[in-house]
Amino acid sequence: MKEQLNSILEDAKKQLESAQTQSETDEIRVRFLGKKGRLTEILRGMGKLSPEERKATGQMANSVRDEIETMLAERFEAVKAAAKEAQFRKERIDVTEPGKVEELGVAHPLTITMEEISRVFRNMGYSIVEGPEVETVFNNFDALNAGPDHPARDMTDTFYITEDVLLRTQTSPVQVRTLLKEKPPIKVISPGRVFRCDTPDATHSPMFHQVEGLLVDEGVTMADLKGTLDSFAKQLFGTSTKTKFRPHHFPFTEPSAEMDVSCFKCGGKGCRVCKGSGWIEILGCGMVHPSVLKVGGLDTEKYTGFAFGLGVERVAMLKYGVDDIRLFYENDMRFIEQFK
Ligand SMILES: [Zn+2]
Repeated sequence: MKEQLNSILEDAKKQLESAQTQSETDEIRVRFLGKKGRLTEILRGMGKLSPEERKATGQMANSVRDEIETMLAERFEAVKAAAKEAQFRKERIDVTEPGKVEELGVAHPLTITMEEISRVFRNMGYSIVEGPEVETVFNNFDALNAGPDHPARDMTDTFYITEDVLLRTQTSPVQVRTLLKEKPPIKVISPGRVFRCDTPDATHSPMFHQVEGLLVDEGVTMADLKGTLDSFAKQLFGTSTKTKFRPHHFPFTEPSAEMDVSCFKCGGKGCRVCKGSGWIEILGCGMVHPSVLKVGGLDTEKYTGFAFGLGVERVAMLKYGVDDIRLFYENDMRFIEQFK
């Protein structure tokens, strides 16, 4: 009986050592200490023993039971701790692991230029309006005083969709739309895409961008135009920038002018950018032609205004020293990323 008890203790020890889970240790408890367990069976068979033997075996059986219970408890705790540890390991977050770096995009140089131009005029109280790229021939030409004989209406310059509908060749039709919708004082700029039947080369593209400006109010003069555009040039190209106005012709303004700015590269001394002249042509402008104001039903005795338009690509090419307009449309990241 003594050997039996010893082998029970040995077996329990061995089995517990290999127990990996809490339910496995529970099974071992049942196998040894349960109602039909091996130790319980031994205790049941003790009735056949003599009183001395019963006492000695009883004491030994109790100490074996105590020992098995202690081992069970220890194993149970160990298995529980191991399970927890395994769970922690599985759910572990390595806070020292380097984060994923999201690559930020960059604004396109034309977007940057358009936003800079818009910001200057917004600060002068202009609001930004937009017009459709598909326009009526009336808004693009007739209402802007460019009658059927005007050279810009030649089929070779304009993408016609139907006889009366085209892709706008300029942002100026937004002037017409604004005059038809709003009453003076009017103070708007309108950036956007325009289209011409041009063969692409270093300075031409069938699609490019313009910013149009229109101001209409009582008593607006050419001096207001000059002051406004001179201030714009100084804000865009630097406070030392000088401007000069040369007479020009546009059908929708009278008088019309082109504005030159002193070269921002050489300061007027003459360089490659200004082709040695010290001046760079930057925009077209003029006093709104009375026949355009009449489209909006305005009293031309009471109201006058000025308008201007500039090419965004031209400004961007001059400002950033880009020598081929096509670079703007190729989406080559090596080019675009330089404007970070
Ligand atoms: Zn220069």
